[in-house]
Amino acid sequence: MKYVSTRGSAPALDFAGVTLAGLASDSGLYVPEEWPQFSLDEIAAMRGLPYAELAARVMQPFVGDCLSPDRLGELTAKAYGRFAHAAVTPLTQLDERQWLLELFHGPTLAFKDVALQLLGLLFEEFLERENGSLTIVGATSGDTGSAAIDAVAGLDRVEIFMLHPKGRVSDVQRRQMTTVRAPNVHNIAIDGSFDDAQAMVKRIFTDRDVTANHRIGAVNSINWARLMAQVVYYFAAALQLGGPERKPAFSVPTGNFGDIFAGHVAARMGLPVERLIVATNVNDILHRALSAGDYSTGSVTPTAAPSMDIQVSSNFERLLYDVGGRDGAAMAEQMRGFEAERAMRLTNAQREGASALFTSMRADENDMARAMRWACENCAEIVDPHTAIGLHAARASELPPGVPAVTLATAHPAKFPDAVERATGTRPALPTRVGDLFAREEAYAELPGTYEAVRDHILEHAV
Ligand SMILES: *Cc1c(COP(=O)(O)O)cnc(C)c1O
Repeated sequence: MKYVSTRGSAPALDFAGVTLAGLASDSGLYVPEEWPQFSLDEIAAMRGLPYAELAARVMQPFVGDCLSPDRLGELTAKAYGRFAHAAVTPLTQLDERQWLLELFHGPTLAFKDVALQLLGLLFEEFLERENGSLTIVGATSGDTGSAAIDAVAGLDRVEIFMLHPKGRVSDVQRRQMTTVRAPNVHNIAIDGSFDDAQAMVKRIFTDRDVTANHRIGAVNSINWARLMAQVVYYFAAALQLGGPERKPAFSVPTGNFGDIFAGHVAARMGLPVERLIVATNVNDILHRALSAGDYSTGSVTPTAAPSMDIQVSSNFERLLYDVGGRDGAAMAEQMRGFEAERAMRLTNAQREGASALFTSMRADENDMARAMRWACENCAEIVDPHTAIGLHAARASELPPGVPAVTLATAHPAKFPDAVERATGTRPALPTRVGDLFAREEAYAELPGTYEAVRDHILEHAV
């Protein structure tokens, strides 16, 4: 399997290459040259497989010759063996139509573990082969940082520098990063916003003083291997609900468009899917783009669902490329316009291509709180603020009779106890598997919000 850039001019890479690369050299994102196909019979034959085996079956065509089927199976067994639930991503029924796909049974309580637990193992596998090492530099508004640190802590060939905006991540999120004591883990709190941290990370990737001696890697959802691992649970859920004969709809709390793009990939591979519902909060650039063709940035409004508080949704470029004719030169041109204007219109082909499968819905703080209360009072389920936005969209969407609606439950409610308590009156308890999170000692550097301070810190501490 070969991977090409959405902007058409970076060299094609194999799976090992895209796993270790971040952004393509032409600033595009890597996508498979073509979508692997499963027939309905092949999909039906996946019914009843344990999750790790299903994962290896669905991912094998993307991995190509880079890993043997046996080796891939060993890695998925190891990655998903760390989950607290034997089904890995179990489904919970809410009413005759609504279901929750619980993606938060990994070590750090958010869906990002599903991909990052595997990504850590893939890094190690491919670096060992070339006797190389990787310095990961990332910025987090909460969930990516903790999931990435857990996934790579203690690895020999990887070290990680994770920036978070000081005072702007929840206590649980911060402690999940700063109490991990491994020599290859470096936490940095900066004076500034998430966007400031993100801008610094982008600069690191092109700073010769850093890249001359260190290979810099990425763990955000521009990394293809992360999206690939997320395709699996769409298959798992559909098969549980009567697929491939019966088509479910999926409602996905969306920020960077990684999680829902994986649903698009599953459909492209042949999985029958009725609809993909993009659920946004008031930071609704994706809702405006899909409903009116208007992809224009504004300013970010902080909400109780911080992982969806975005201005620009990086993976949306992958969808626009795929449904808009796969023309790298045209995509590069369109994105240059967007980067200059901070706004663009979708082409007719992009709008029509997206509307075949996607709809979108925007939920404000009231809609979110009402969905949380509905689940609590009618179904005895406590859901987190992100999941509540997805659930609101699933319940408000018009779907044909008999179509099950699956909301992706992206985080455990105990990650956001204040917002959950405000809406439902119940304060969710942390699961015992996170242990004595609030008793453990924290370690992190505090740096001023200047690029030089961060770069010098990385150069001083990177091996
Ligand atoms: C990251 C995250 C999201 C958004 O996922 P994208 O792939 O960026 O669209 C939603 N909910 C939670 C809890 C998250 O951590």
